[in-house]
Amino acid sequence: MKLECNAVVPDLGCDYVASGDTVDAVHDDMMAHGGQVHSDLMDGMSEAEMARAGQEMSERIKELVRANN
Ligand SMILES: [Zn+2]
Repeated sequence: MKLECNAVVPDLGCDYVASGDTVDAVHDDMMAHGGQVHSDLMDGMSEAEMARAGQEMSERIKELVRANN
């Protein structure tokens, strides 16, 4: 299973592809990638905003993995 970073946040124009054997594995790979490469997306957010954005991103990634694999 795999998911392109570009499918999650098209505006970034990033060509990273997360992969794994399960939805959770692809999700974890993508979240780790986001934390390493796109941490600037969280710049200026409060802790509460960050928590909410992380939660939304997490759900979105799982939906996309299920829809595309
Ligand atoms: Zn990316």
